[in-house]
Amino acid sequence: MYINGEWVKTQREFRVTNPATGEAIGMVSDGDKSQAILAINAAHTAFSSWSTASAYMRAEVLQRAYDLMIERKPMLADLMTREQGKPLKAALNEVQYAADFLRWFSEEAKRVYGETIPSARADQRFIVRYQPLGVVAAITPWNYPISMITRKVAPALAAGCTIVLKPAEATPLCAIAVFNILHEAGVPAGVANLVTTSEPVPIGDEFCTNIKIKKLTFTGSTAVGKKLAQDAAPQLKRVSMELGGHAPFIVFDDADPLHAAKGASLVKFLNTGQACISPNRIFVQRAILDSFVQTFTERVVKMKAGNGLDPSVSIGPLVNSAAVEKVSCQVEDALKKGAILHSGGKALSGDAYASGNFYAPTVLSNVSEDMLIYREETFGPVAAIIPFDAYDDVIEMANNTHYGLAAYVYTQNLSRAVRAFEALNFGIIGINDINPTSAAAPFGGMNESGLGREGAREGLGEYLETKLGGFSV
Ligand code: ADP
Repeated sequence: MYINGEWVKTQREFRVTNPATGEAIGMVSDGDKSQAILAINAAHTAFSSWSTASAYMRAEVLQRAYDLMIERKPMLADLMTREQGKPLKAALNEVQYAADFLRWFSEEAKRVYGETIPSARADQRFIVRYQPLGVVAAITPWNYPISMITRKVAPALAAGCTIVLKPAEATPLCAIAVFNILHEAGVPAGVANLVTTSEPVPIGDEFCTNIKIKKLTFTGSTAVGKKLAQDAAPQLKRVSMELGGHAPFIVFDDADPLHAAKGASLVKFLNTGQACISPNRIFVQRAILDSFVQTFTERVVKMKAGNGLDPSVSIGPLVNSAAVEKVSCQVEDALKKGAILHSGGKALSGDAYASGNFYAPTVLSNVSEDMLIYREETFGPVAAIIPFDAYDDVIEMANNTHYGLAAYVYTQNLSRAVRAFEALNFGIIGINDINPTSAAAPFGGMNESGLGREGAREGLGEYLETKLGGFSV
């Protein structure tokens, strides 16, 4: 753990395993409430000097962290593949994405402009300034184990906040590597603190109830996010919540068929389906249904599952055996209720897969509303294809979810694209595009997919408080 500028070890440790091989790859300090309190106190003490340091100084520290992360990209990607499982190429992309937040917010740190507002009174002046909220508590997931950290730490530090972060228990080694970088980049003692643990609940409780914490930022499941938001409510702590999704991927009959099938297969199986923006329902207009299913399946059967360190592998393992179980359960339920299986449909066994958590990339068509997969987030490598007839029907079906994170639309008709963009109740919409994410663009969900936005100008605003001065002159 990294507390008040020093690396701290506890006697109790927990094991980190490679999800592709089941091998132990490290032992990590198992922190408890007492370490969380030490870290919060350190962040609280550091806040007075960090929040009043010049934005230029804070920007320089973040820029150095960016340079170090880029320098270490191959090492970080290798670690990520071993700890989290994604193929090496995807891990390299993630490290770049993670570093982008450091650079973007190092630039934005210098642009926290205030405002003057004309008053109706000639003898009054209004001045608005934006100031850092205070100590931030952050909880991050395992699926994007480096970028989900920088997406919170970089804007918090840029704004002048200090932070205590608890990473997911499956991927603490990536978090340690990020904090090594922050340390070497010259982040002052207490400004950024890391508490690793195998038991998130007591630390989460401390984050929600400690009066010194002014803001909780969380990325993870909707169920845990709701609980944390409730626990933080009595003190009216600010919260940002980046939660689950159930993305629709809509292919109209005027879409470029190859582009659509390629896009759907790439984004569906990205990170083995373990992404909150992963398409969970692929709606295809009936006139092109058969040809889409055929082209899509041809691409999927070529995908090789295995250890992400093997360059020919594009599908890594799932995070644990419970994830395999959940995926199996959704697929069995769908098949029982009339879905058609085109490929996959089973956990992978045999020598290469024996010690890992692998599920074959799977294509189902004829998926309908009564199936679990139609409503529940899958977080696995299963594409669920659903036919539709008319524009109005598909918009209604797509919006019929309590989630609202990402959606995708494929069409070559401009007015249909604009109308769908406006009508879909999702925070992030890809139009003929599967990668509508960037450090410069606001990421976040509507409805039960979350609160607030990360990245972009909005991402910095999440760590700032608005202060109005009314001056009688
Ligand atoms: P997932 O299902 O994707 O693992 P979780 O919401 O369970 O999502 O986990 C995301 C993060 O939330 C992880 O860092 C995990 O340790 C943490 N977490 C899980 N449950 C709690 C809890 N009750 N209190 C605080 N943090 C939690």
